[in-house]
Amino acid sequence: MPQQYLLLTPGPLTTSESVKQAMLKDWCTWDQDYNLRVVEDIRSRLVAMATTMPGYTSVLMQGSGTASVESVLGTVVNKNDKLLIINNGAYGARIKQIAEVLGIAYTALDFIETQLPDLNLLEKTLQQDRSISHIAMVHCETTTGMLNPLEAVSRLAQQYGKTFILDAMSSFGGIPMDIGELNIGYLVSSANKCIQGVPGFGFVIAKQELLERTKGQARSLSLDLYDQWQCMQVNQGKWRFTSPTHVVRAFAQALNELEAEGGVSARSKRYQENQSLLVQGMQELGFEPLLDVSLHSPIITSFYSPSQPDYKFERFYQLLKQQGFVIYPGKVSEADCFRIGNIGEVYPADIAALLRAVAKARYWI
Ligand SMILES: *Cc1c(COP(=O)(O)O)cnc(C)c1O
Repeated sequence: MPQQYLLLTPGPLTTSESVKQAMLKDWCTWDQDYNLRVVEDIRSRLVAMATTMPGYTSVLMQGSGTASVESVLGTVVNKNDKLLIINNGAYGARIKQIAEVLGIAYTALDFIETQLPDLNLLEKTLQQDRSISHIAMVHCETTTGMLNPLEAVSRLAQQYGKTFILDAMSSFGGIPMDIGELNIGYLVSSANKCIQGVPGFGFVIAKQELLERTKGQARSLSLDLYDQWQCMQVNQGKWRFTSPTHVVRAFAQALNELEAEGGVSARSKRYQENQSLLVQGMQELGFEPLLDVSLHSPIITSFYSPSQPDYKFERFYQLLKQQGFVIYPGKVSEADCFRIGNIGEVYPADIAALLRAVAKARYWI
């Protein structure tokens, strides 16, 4: 068996032993033990986590997180609608790509990856283009680790009467928010990020009155969000097509562990502690973070690559992996970087051990 290592990556991430254990049983998809006790329980817990306000429902969707984003865009933005996409990173660009492939009418506001979206430009665009019906934005842009201005954008969406679609893939469960207060129409996230499950499905938490009006609009059969929701509603937790039963069971366990930790605010605190230890320690070792401290999320941090001419990410990566830590390559177009995730079953002691490993690797490269 290959050596064990800690994944310091933004999903799949390091999961607990008990989450992995939860997969060691086969489940029947039409039995009440699964549908009612596991799936329906997850659906209502997700809604309770997302908001204290009434009127929200949730849908689970097979596939990686992108499939859930695609199911929302392809189902809820209908043929007469127009989507405004706020883009400042690879995941914002992916939303554009989905709109392109599905033939969704859209307009994009593109910003550079190391800067916050320009809210004045957003407001001007909303004033000028009355045909815009929906706004899509990524909350934590995992490309850089930047936290986009959720409250300000949700306020504008509300003020101008637009449906707000939030890709909160890498933040939901790790950063407190109330999607009812933010008047979010659709929030998308997945099993293998801050809730600390294993990969295999994503989920959407939606304002029910909006979702109810999307029947027959989907541009895809398997990614029809409305149909999937209807099936789960009517048949109490039944998925239309084969569901990732083991993954779903692991997710239920991951939700238990999130609650046991003290909920989203406690988890957020742990991630923040991980992140500030990491940034401080890395700076002491001579690494500079890409973003200004004020722009950081507690989820993942990008660092500039060392400036020495013979530095190669692959070697640095291998040197850390040999010591039990897996990090992520950079994804920023205009800077040479690498990334370290702070999420998952990772604690301050692990960050301290990582920093010792980086100090050694730094010496060897
Ligand atoms: C992880 C992630 C996704 C989904 O990626 P998949 O590889 O499809 O799971 C989407 N948006 C953001 C911001 C992410 O971090």
